[in-house]
Amino acid sequence: MEENYPMLSVEDALSQFLDYFHALEPERVPVLDGVNRVLAEDIVAAYDIPPHANSAMDGYAVRAEDMAGARDDAPRRLRVAGELAAGYTRDAPLEPETAIRIMTGAPIPPGADAVIPFEETTREGDAILVTRRYPHNANIRAAGEDVRAGETVLAKGTVLRPQEIGMLAAMGQTEVAVIRRPRVAILSTGDEVVDASEPLTAGKIRDANGYSVAAAVVKYGGVPIRLGIARDRVEELTTRIRAGLAQRADLFVTSGGVSVGDFDVVKQVLAAEGEIAFWRVRMKPGKPLAFGTIQGVPLLGLPGNPVSALMSFELFGRPALLKMQGKTRLAKPTIEATLVDEIKHKDNRRHYVRVRLETRGGETFAHLTGDQGSGILLSMVRADGIAIIPEALKRVEAGARVRVMMLDWTEV
Ligand code: AMP
Ligand code: MG
Repeated sequence: MEENYPMLSVEDALSQFLDYFHALEPERVPVLDGVNRVLAEDIVAAYDIPPHANSAMDGYAVRAEDMAGARDDAPRRLRVAGELAAGYTRDAPLEPETAIRIMTGAPIPPGADAVIPFEETTREGDAILVTRRYPHNANIRAAGEDVRAGETVLAKGTVLRPQEIGMLAAMGQTEVAVIRRPRVAILSTGDEVVDASEPLTAGKIRDANGYSVAAAVVKYGGVPIRLGIARDRVEELTTRIRAGLAQRADLFVTSGGVSVGDFDVVKQVLAAEGEIAFWRVRMKPGKPLAFGTIQGVPLLGLPGNPVSALMSFELFGRPALLKMQGKTRLAKPTIEATLVDEIKHKDNRRHYVRVRLETRGGETFAHLTGDQGSGILLSMVRADGIAIIPEALKRVEAGARVRVMMLDWTEV
């Protein structure tokens, strides 16, 4: 079997893999459920925002022409003829030589064409004194100054952030069309693996992957369908995978059972029930990574070691989830950092090394988070980035600059 499937570079594997995924269909959801999701329609403003000219300050609405000639030594006196709070309107036109007390956001009364802030006036009985001229439209926010009726405010394909959600609400939208979330079936394998809720008897370990992968699915916008743990038997795994497929998954993820051990049955089932596209990638951790389709559903077979499983999911599962959600920026953000510890590198696989970042004196340093074994989940727990060590390097000196993929940068 080995000979039929060459070991692919990370890039080749990723590009073959991502070709299987496309943006899913849109669905209508309440606007707040649209956050971090991709807009599936153009949003055109039905009316102006703000809908009416309104005051930008707390002050007095006036007729600018009434202040022609106003000076320190020749103030103009305007009688205060009323008051207008935000949320109310006034229909009576402003009479010459009068002012209306007006609050920020209140519609400009007819006839008024400037607002004088309180602090620039002197109150005298039922009047105010004004000592300078104001231009037409001073301190007035025009109708439509934010958004004009008919304007395309949000384009299809936009990722909805809090500001876009606010804009939708400002336009009176209670629902929005976004690409639906991908459904991801998750099955752990291994006779030794038991659930966190089960007793830990001799020879057993608890299922970390079923949870870490489900958590990553949620983090990257998908809906996990947790299928539990399958024993290392071809018949059982086949039955479990068929049952999982009945749950309309867009992606099936298994963990364990993809290396060359006697009980590595995921590959066998994938070959028997569907088609294998590749199963070895030149990377560490995570070399045995199986990929194929069963009944047209892509199946990603992660290795069993908890770090390999999660790292492979970050590298492959994450961009697939983003692509299915209609996102186009699929690469994880990276930064440059100075390596604090030396890294030895024996084979020509790409190494993904767990690091903790520290910024000192304007420079970012990357510290290894300890033992880099693929079963050492704690080194992943302590990491905030993954240093990418190119295949060709045999050794990276302390002090070298390395590229670090950020684990926790906001996902957009
Ligand atoms: P495998 O890929 O099935 O050969 O598993 C490789 C290693 O990962 C073995 O030591 C397994 O016990 C361990 N392992 C497999 N699945 C899990 C899991 N779901 N959670 C934690 N460790 C696992
Ligand atoms: Mg196993």
